[in-house]
Amino acid sequence: MAANQRAGGTVSPASSASSPVDAGLLPLTAEVRPEGLAVGGVLLADLARCHGTPLFVYDEEQLRQRCREAVAAFGPGNVAYASKAFLCTAMARLAHEEGLLLDVASGGELRAALGAGVPADRIVLHGSNKDEAELRTAMSAGVRHVVVDSFDELDRIERLHAEERLPVVRVQLRVAPGVAAGAHEAIRTGGSDSKFGFGLAGGTAERAARRAADSPAMLLEGVHAHVGSQVLDARELAAGAAAVARFAAGVPGRRLTVGGGLGVAYEAGQSVPSFADWAARVHAAVRGAGWDGQVGVEPGRSIAARAGLTLYRVGTIKRIEGVRTYVSVDGGMSDNLRPALYGSRYEAFLPRSPRADRPLRARLVGKHCESGDVIIDEAALPADLRVSDLLATPVTGAYGYAMASNYNKLPRPAVVFVRDGAARVVVRRETEEDLLRLDADGPAGPAGPGVLPGARRSGGGDLVAARPLGTA
Ligand SMILES: *Cc1c(COP(=O)(O)O)cnc(C)c1O
Repeated sequence: MAANQRAGGTVSPASSASSPVDAGLLPLTAEVRPEGLAVGGVLLADLARCHGTPLFVYDEEQLRQRCREAVAAFGPGNVAYASKAFLCTAMARLAHEEGLLLDVASGGELRAALGAGVPADRIVLHGSNKDEAELRTAMSAGVRHVVVDSFDELDRIERLHAEERLPVVRVQLRVAPGVAAGAHEAIRTGGSDSKFGFGLAGGTAERAARRAADSPAMLLEGVHAHVGSQVLDARELAAGAAAVARFAAGVPGRRLTVGGGLGVAYEAGQSVPSFADWAARVHAAVRGAGWDGQVGVEPGRSIAARAGLTLYRVGTIKRIEGVRTYVSVDGGMSDNLRPALYGSRYEAFLPRSPRADRPLRARLVGKHCESGDVIIDEAALPADLRVSDLLATPVTGAYGYAMASNYNKLPRPAVVFVRDGAARVVVRRETEEDLLRLDADGPAGPAGPGVLPGARRSGGGDLVAARPLGTA
């Protein structure tokens, strides 16, 4: 089952709802061996045995290949990896090594990118409400450019330049083109009723452009928009790009960035454009709108999603007569929030038998104290599924670990990269000690809970021994 889907294309529709998982949903280097599925030359069962579950597994070759395909389609210097999809030191380095810029949207993401050794001039700062500290770090470090999002932010940049003498910063103007696309309201960002950007309607964006162009604190180098995410029709992305291009053509600056948003197939039957399709549509649309400068993109999901999968252990199978079957695994909404947040759909398979038919219908759920903790409603699963089976959900490489939480005090999973028969842990599993490391109150001593007798808390939360009663 060397996965056949190259840059884009259709994941073949399930011939019947009970058919095996489609190879097009698996990582590129997936191969079926007698013992089960291997990715990057490593058996998934061995990874689970060595590193535990839940576990995020990434096909490093596929991550690199996706980066290269994006650069080939849009040109070097024109692709920024949207790090919010999945970011850790190893991922920041990988994207940088493959020639991508890094798009970060907070001080924390900026810190991760700089900490990974990505040069500041390869980093782009986004965000709809950047605070002074984030702007200060970006301006002092000398990031490639800042995508400015509001008049308040222009004020803050001017103040930092005038009062703290921070260097002049290159900026792109984020505009809301009045075109929104995407699979769910929460990820449609480009409409005029949006917290993002300066509206093209009513002349707001035009005013912002004049202000930035005249400002001594910044150099306006172009326009930016991002219309939405998980867009499966490249024509929608092109329509957004055309709307911004018309505006950009009348503004100083030679760079137009049209955001990310290219969708991926999460289920059999979904058709996805390739990077080359996306590039062709966007280039034609912006040229048609009168733009002849650079065109940049910021793919996140389309780089990371299919390269990653999640391994879980099945713990409980509950058959409720006349109702349904529940299959519970050892993770859930704390490692994959997308089903609860967006109603997103996934598929599942058993690494021990990736070619098995899946006639069983069950609700695949996590271990959290919520009925909404559903990973797949009506999951198709093999009939011989049993407790202690290893189960995998493919295409979880984007917005999975990135949105992970400690809900119910679950430690966040480890992340491993596999390649050429070797696995390396790139993010270690959280421990139960990690879960308490921010608690200002220390653990109870052997004698019992809480504060020692005769001790009190100082204002800072430190334990201070009180003088024994009756002494001076
Ligand atoms: C989220 C986001 C992206 C990436 O979106 P994907 O759909 O993951 O490709 C790119 N640019 C901006 C500004 C974003 O907010």
